[in-house]
Amino acid sequence: MKHKYIFVVGGVMSGVGKGITTSSIGTLFEAQGYKVNIVKADPYLNVDAGTMNPTEHGEVFVLGSGLETDQDMGNYERFMNRDLSGEDYMTSGMVYKHVLDKERSLGFKGKCIDADNIRDEIVSRYQSAADAKRSDITIIEIGGTVGDYQNIMFIEAARVLKLRHPTDVIFIMVSFLPIPSKLGEMKSKPTQNAIKQLQSYGVQADFIVARSEVPLDKKRKEKIAFSCNIPTENVISAPDIDSIYDVPLNFERDKLSDMLANALKLPKKKINLSQWKKFVGKVKSAKKEVKIAVVGKYFSTGDFILSDAYVSVIEAIKFSAYWQGLKPKLVWLHSEDFEGASAEVKKALREKLGSVDGVLVPGGFGETGIEGKINVIRYVRENKIPYFGLCYGMQLLVIEYARNVAGIKQAHTREISPKTEHAVIDIMEHQKKHLEEGRYGASMRLGSYECVLKKGTVAEKAYKAAKVIERHRHRYEVNPEFIKTITDSGLVFSGTSVDGTLMEIAELPRGTDRGQHPFFLGTQFHPEFLARPLAPHPLFTEFVKAAGKRK
Ligand code: GLN
Repeated sequence: MKHKYIFVVGGVMSGVGKGITTSSIGTLFEAQGYKVNIVKADPYLNVDAGTMNPTEHGEVFVLGSGLETDQDMGNYERFMNRDLSGEDYMTSGMVYKHVLDKERSLGFKGKCIDADNIRDEIVSRYQSAADAKRSDITIIEIGGTVGDYQNIMFIEAARVLKLRHPTDVIFIMVSFLPIPSKLGEMKSKPTQNAIKQLQSYGVQADFIVARSEVPLDKKRKEKIAFSCNIPTENVISAPDIDSIYDVPLNFERDKLSDMLANALKLPKKKINLSQWKKFVGKVKSAKKEVKIAVVGKYFSTGDFILSDAYVSVIEAIKFSAYWQGLKPKLVWLHSEDFEGASAEVKKALREKLGSVDGVLVPGGFGETGIEGKINVIRYVRENKIPYFGLCYGMQLLVIEYARNVAGIKQAHTREISPKTEHAVIDIMEHQKKHLEEGRYGASMRLGSYECVLKKGTVAEKAYKAAKVIERHRHRYEVNPEFIKTITDSGLVFSGTSVDGTLMEIAELPRGTDRGQHPFFLGTQFHPEFLARPLAPHPLFTEFVKAAGKRK
């Protein structure tokens, strides 16, 4: 079979669901037994997403390879239940850097380098992502909107690929049809203009996914089809829905995957969406509420709560809850509200944490709010409220335990207290060098590492495995010097690196007697990156289960 490409571009404006459309098309082809990979072409000049602030850009997702990417990659993996590789992500910065590095080392053998070399590099990246051994179909989402000057090179490279392989490349535009409240009528003009703009680049869209508040009527579909030069049935109505996980099913109802397969001359295959339907059914039928508090700092941009910064964590909680028939309710708590030892803070801890079923502290960096998080961890440990700490959330768990149980009163992390003699969380030698030399980009401990589980622990029982692979993104580690003191006072390191030197999971044992903690566990890795709708993460499931039992 020849390799097929589907390009997804945005029209009119961003934020209307281009990523979810792309992911859903991936779900549909995967459900037909095709091997699919999805590529994100991001216009940013950042070489990767690792240096971007989550408050501005949302979560930094990490692939198994260790590449730090845009959060869309997380959606693709979740929707397809499939790992993507480092070749599936590119930024303009990555492309330019590669071309310029090659130029500096005489890689072009004295030739004059211009924008064509950038375009050709992108074409070759599209093609190498589509390596036939890995996948049959490559879906490429081009970041930004048609008409932006920042993403022109990605569209130009797509045009060239289509020119070379006319029957193997199609284009989908995800557009938006506003209904101005004063007019009360759905307007298609912006979409028509976006298509014209795309045509001016030499690209004709084959399909339009028309996002709007309500479904498109026949008249509107015909109008768009006529003015945009495509058959009426290729205008797909995509009205607002409650859950993003409905989108593949809605598309399938409109036979979208058949139409795309036809356009690409792919053989017709049977689609099996039974597991997906089962999951969506669980989302709809969940009744009993489970209240989980997320304690963090990347929440506010102006007046908005930015849950984008924790999207993988949120989804991971949801998957585990829904599969257990629980309806997750997330409560966002600012860690800074719990700083200090005043009566007010004590009251806040009692009132805000007393009413939730579980508490999660996600990953993070720097000093803001960490004493508040430590207070929260102490409270939930002492009051036996299920606790799950991710990365920084695990490091702070270890610090809290060291300070308040193991008697290391000054326990801290080197990240905040560079001169401390009680760095229970410390920097590793090779990481020290990166920091001294100011190398911040792509220099953390990143991506997949093996973790060996200790028999009989909460973690081992949850995973039902002796060894697992999880993804990382951090610089600091539990300091081996303090391990004995900490474990002597009861904390268990239930997961370690294969050589036993790095502590991957910390937990309090859970026995059968009533005095013990229902779930108090932290991971140095980020389990949220591997949680999928069709494969909820075992540790999130254990945590949510404990929370569900609290009432
Ligand atoms: N700041 C911590 C570290 O660098 C934790 C990082 C994280 O939570 N991702 O080790």
